[in-house]
Amino acid sequence: MSASPPPRSPLEQWAGIGPATVERLARLGIEQPEDFLWLLPLRYEDLTRVTPIAALTAGSEALVEGEIVRVEEHTRGAGAGKQLIVHLADASGTLVGRWFRYYPSTQQKLKAGRRWRWYGEVRWHYFGGVEMIHPRLIDPKTPLPATLTPIYPSVEGLNQPHLRRWVAKALAVVALDEWLDDETRQRWHFPALPNAVRLLHQPPAGLVPEKPEWRAARARLAFDELVAQQASMRRARLARLTCAAPAISGTDADRAERALAARLPFTLTNAQRRVVGEIAHDLALPTPMHRLVLGDVGSGKTVVAALAIARAVGAGFQAALAAPTEILAEQHAQKLAPWFEGVAPVELITASTPARVRQALNERLEQGEPMVVVGTHALFETRTPLPRLALAVIDEQHRFGVRQRARLREKSSAWRPHLLMMSATPIPRTLAMACYADLDLSFLDERPPGRKPVTTTLLPLSRKAELIARVRAWCASGKQVYWVCPLIEENETLALNAAEAVFEELRHAMPEIAIALLHGRMGHDEKQQVMRAFVAGTVSILVATTVIEVGVDVPNASLMVIEHAERFGMAQLHQLRGRVGRGSSESFCVLLYDEPLSAVARERLATLKRESDGFRIAQADLKLRGPGELTGVRQSGVPMMRVADLTRDEALIPAAQALADKLVQTQPELVDRLIARWVPHARWAPHA
Ligand code: ADP
Ligand code: MG
Repeated sequence: MSASPPPRSPLEQWAGIGPATVERLARLGIEQPEDFLWLLPLRYEDLTRVTPIAALTAGSEALVEGEIVRVEEHTRGAGAGKQLIVHLADASGTLVGRWFRYYPSTQQKLKAGRRWRWYGEVRWHYFGGVEMIHPRLIDPKTPLPATLTPIYPSVEGLNQPHLRRWVAKALAVVALDEWLDDETRQRWHFPALPNAVRLLHQPPAGLVPEKPEWRAARARLAFDELVAQQASMRRARLARLTCAAPAISGTDADRAERALAARLPFTLTNAQRRVVGEIAHDLALPTPMHRLVLGDVGSGKTVVAALAIARAVGAGFQAALAAPTEILAEQHAQKLAPWFEGVAPVELITASTPARVRQALNERLEQGEPMVVVGTHALFETRTPLPRLALAVIDEQHRFGVRQRARLREKSSAWRPHLLMMSATPIPRTLAMACYADLDLSFLDERPPGRKPVTTTLLPLSRKAELIARVRAWCASGKQVYWVCPLIEENETLALNAAEAVFEELRHAMPEIAIALLHGRMGHDEKQQVMRAFVAGTVSILVATTVIEVGVDVPNASLMVIEHAERFGMAQLHQLRGRVGRGSSESFCVLLYDEPLSAVARERLATLKRESDGFRIAQADLKLRGPGELTGVRQSGVPMMRVADLTRDEALIPAAQALADKLVQTQPELVDRLIARWVPHARWAPHA
């Protein structure tokens, strides 16, 4: 007998799972049976009971059952195609089902006299009564399920019935152990792990989310995840402390820092002074610093980074400053060059740096010449040698990937560089400490003096003409304007078209004003030219996509207009608004919105109008989102968790942290298992 080749995945032994499915499942993070248990439902459908048609309410999903009493096919005007209108009746009333796309086979099924169950969202009908659009057809002879039907996150090629079947199988065959001690469980009223998992996958009829049992089960899993995440970060920190880094201290470092401080056209704020001290302390240690500076837009992070860099190059090392966009890297290089005159050369490396220039630069770097290299992702590439890299600063750190940062470690064979990260991610302190437990944090929580808050106005798009008239007068008086184009995330070409349309519109309306367009698809030189013209003041209005979101600093631009502000996230709007209010004159931000606004959108914009503090805005943002929906945080680069929700589960964090610390010391194998389960690809490694 010839042995068949061993399956590549333990899942291939399951009926219906072939290599293609294995690959799709891997995209969901599922590689072994147990992983199905951690694929948690996004929501549930209640197919456990039939609702009488007369009792339907618009806005919810429901299951109905009845007989088809009438079928009509309508033509919806020229070129609009047909629609199928089907009347379903039960003892209590009649419901309309509407199909805009259908095959003859659907029509075949929807004949008068047939009985069906329909599942779908109930909507108010044009002429009174209720209707469902494209309801799902369910055979009335199938028994009603005893549990709510979970809807799982999925990828193309995997359907819900398959996922449900596999999860059910995993529930049957995987024996989950309870690892958590009784005392902790009782303290938080947590169910045992296997029960919690089963309840979330198969909630009994009537148990809707937010009922206490469901909440307890969710919180239990959130706690497991938090412990795993904290333990993973704790380990990363401990591992880092066993590595060597060049200790940067001594009179040369001190002198370089003082020389730079003396060149600045302003005095440091107390917060800047404190953070600079925290960094200097870390740099003097023989283990690599991993410090994150969190400071709102405009809090003056660049100077703090420059002072740290001065210490490194002053002591004879190489230092790097990475920025997420070329525009920002160029701006940083321009700012740093005069500050470092006579101390160390400042050089720029981006994807657009000519090969010849790069080659020459590489040779100097290879020799170990002390230098400040400013650049984009190009800095991380292996072909940029930085053998004496002692300090790497990463601006807008959330814009960088995990692996890129990891590459910096390989720059020197002798040591790991100190890492300084900077972010304007506006999250509250306690949450930051949980999210970034593997980093040391510095809070730059003071604005440079003399800043006037930006006055924010909300204006409907219908009043754009009035705004343009005001902008025209504004520019005529020598002031500058950012005009941000509508956000179109899903399609770059459409986004570009929208930007060009805005540009043309403004040029047409204000022919005498110098207007320029800036977008991500432009070539490097073109971008540079536009940016330079704007900095120099020869361009009055910069029409831009969100490429200007981060970092850019043009103090004379004191008006920002954002079109279709309702399409942007709050964090993003705050970042954009942070581009103005940098000079000494009074600044304004106009949020142009399209009507009608939803209640939530209105509240979000109103919050931005009212609040200028990034942390307060973040807090309001979290409140305005539904539980579990943390896109704002996601956008801002805080690592995401599957179940835990940092605001909702805030109370659990200290307990999870304490337990994680203990387990890392006492039960390394359990920690291995928890990390493999919850943090499989060590999404926390960014800071490792
Ligand atoms: P961000 O924290 O958003 O990166 P920047 O570093 O770009 O902020 O600083 C914003 C502006 O504030 C810059 O023009 C910078 O020169 C200025 N600035 C920084 N620190 C101070 C200070 N202590 N006093 C006055 N202006 C400052
Ligand atoms: Mg910045």
